[in-house]
Amino acid sequence: MRRLRSVKIVATLGPASDDKETIQALFEAGADVFRLNMSHGTHDELRVRHAIIREIERELDRPICILADLQGPKLRCGAFANGSEMLLKGASFRLDLDTTPGDLNRVCLPHPEIFAALDVGETLLVNDGKIRLKVESCGKDFADCVVEVGGEISNRKGVNVPDVILPLAALSDKDRGDLEFACALGVDWIALSFVQRPEDVLEARELVDGRAAILSKIEKPAAVKAFGAILMVSDGIMVARGDLGVELPVQNVPPIQKRLVRACRHAGKPVIVATQMMESMITSPIPTRAEVSDVATAIYEGADAVMLSAESAAGDYPIEAVTMMNNVAIEVEQDPTYREVIEASRSAERASVADAITVAAREIAETTEVNAICCFTHSGTTALKVARERPRVPIIALTPLVGTARRLSLSWGMHCVMTAEVRRFKLAVVSAARAAKDYGFGEDEDSIVVTAGIPFNVAGSTNILRVSKIEMRLMDDLDTE
Ligand code: PGA
Ligand code: MN
Repeated sequence: MRRLRSVKIVATLGPASDDKETIQALFEAGADVFRLNMSHGTHDELRVRHAIIREIERELDRPICILADLQGPKLRCGAFANGSEMLLKGASFRLDLDTTPGDLNRVCLPHPEIFAALDVGETLLVNDGKIRLKVESCGKDFADCVVEVGGEISNRKGVNVPDVILPLAALSDKDRGDLEFACALGVDWIALSFVQRPEDVLEARELVDGRAAILSKIEKPAAVKAFGAILMVSDGIMVARGDLGVELPVQNVPPIQKRLVRACRHAGKPVIVATQMMESMITSPIPTRAEVSDVATAIYEGADAVMLSAESAAGDYPIEAVTMMNNVAIEVEQDPTYREVIEASRSAERASVADAITVAAREIAETTEVNAICCFTHSGTTALKVARERPRVPIIALTPLVGTARRLSLSWGMHCVMTAEVRRFKLAVVSAARAAKDYGFGEDEDSIVVTAGIPFNVAGSTNILRVSKIEMRLMDDLDTE
């Protein structure tokens, strides 16, 4: 089985999609990556979902990528005596460390480190940004605020402090437990929520210890500011538009999306555009025209992946949402304008032999009729270089390492195939040709480009390129050799 598009689809699993039948249907409809949201669900539930995905992977014999998304340092207020209160514009409201239930005048914000970092004039946002409070005076255990935008506040609502770099540990105790659980389970990517600084990523990387790749979610103004440094130490990025649009004015989100996607493409690291992409499909079998256009825009920008959140996790039409994204992707990628835009926005620092070989492979695919670029990869480095070129033809990444195959499945254009360790280039060409034929990328008389590094098994050492026919005779020869 193969996809008919290059952009990838990430589907979040949840109560609407936690049985084997639905997960398999989501995969068959086009989901390449499954996101396990650690903010919801018990470890036992996540373990079951993980096992189901791996079972489907075995049965369908295709690598499937699993991303575990950590909750991160999300702030919440305490409870109210009446469950909720209606805050009116212009009223005074106090946040403090007193754990007695809140009322119309005050509520607990059980985070002393916030009070230590707050200043007069700064803004606090409550309940996805619906309520806005401005700090009028503050001390080490309180902040007196004026309500700038009113609304209902209720038990344990989320609180955002957009202007302040919070002196919070990047990973709470819960996150550390979840991270260890997910790594032990064998997920392929760990996503970090509310990353603020590159050090946050490094801290997580130490704990992950090579067991998964690390994706930084950009959803804080501080992360937007420090983006270059964060990208450098991350393996991938999510443009987390949900919280980003709370922490910053929503109109800032599209330009940030464009900038982040470009920077990730330049660096050759996968980037996911996330949140509210098909939001209306939570309750409707068809998306709005604006949503279709939003998904299309991310694809024209050259994002590696587009993501479904509540649409697939808790909506009424999870499979339809994936199908719709798949249809939009196929249509966009067939548009000649898509190739023009992708080519015009290509950029990269190319410094090595491997980079030059990869550019050559892409140019061969542009000037002649080849059906795929096949690359041998251990760490995935070589395959990412090919993806960065956004070539006109599919990329077949051949690897003996299942972890690499799964991890790469998040990246643009990548069709990952497991192969035995190859020690000779001739054998590599034959394996590539066989994969191209087996998965329907071409027939005997068609050509493929094959890149590999000699000696094999050295990361990023690609130094050889061959244009070859997919010719069964050659394969037969080799079988008897
Ligand atoms: P979330 O992250 O769904 O975990 O909040 C994505 C976002 O904020 O956009
Ligand atoms: Mn978020």
